[in-house]
Amino acid sequence: MTETPSPRSDARSGPWFTDDTGTVHLVYKACLKCGRQTFPPQPYGCLECGAYDADVFVDRHAEATGTLAAQVTVHLHPDQPTPFRIAEIDVRGTSLCVQAPLASEEGLDVGDRVHAVVLDNATLAFAAPQEGRS
Ligand SMILES: [Zn+2]
Repeated sequence: MTETPSPRSDARSGPWFTDDTGTVHLVYKACLKCGRQTFPPQPYGCLECGAYDADVFVDRHAEATGTLAAQVTVHLHPDQPTPFRIAEIDVRGTSLCVQAPLASEEGLDVGDRVHAVVLDNATLAFAAPQEGRS
């Protein structure tokens, strides 16, 4: 968890940004009153305690890496080609559990480390770490 100096999410893609090294960071809200963390961020206040003041309900960002907690394969969808996989990712260093597509069909199991990638269509997805990264 890192305090956000001035993160900018790309309004075209979603609440994340890519730094100069190509690492994807998630932008989320953290409540300093009760500790709840929320992704995607929303402006209405803490879902746990209702705090909404800007000095209590604050922006944070975290490197979009974590552990695959669960996954499902979607075989029917009205708008997208199937099959595709959706996963829950426990984001490292936070209490966030993020739902996002998996970037590939193969080789990931619950407990595996994953990191975020931004696909060509500006969709955030998770994939196995590249060689040499953790
Ligand atoms: Zn709260």
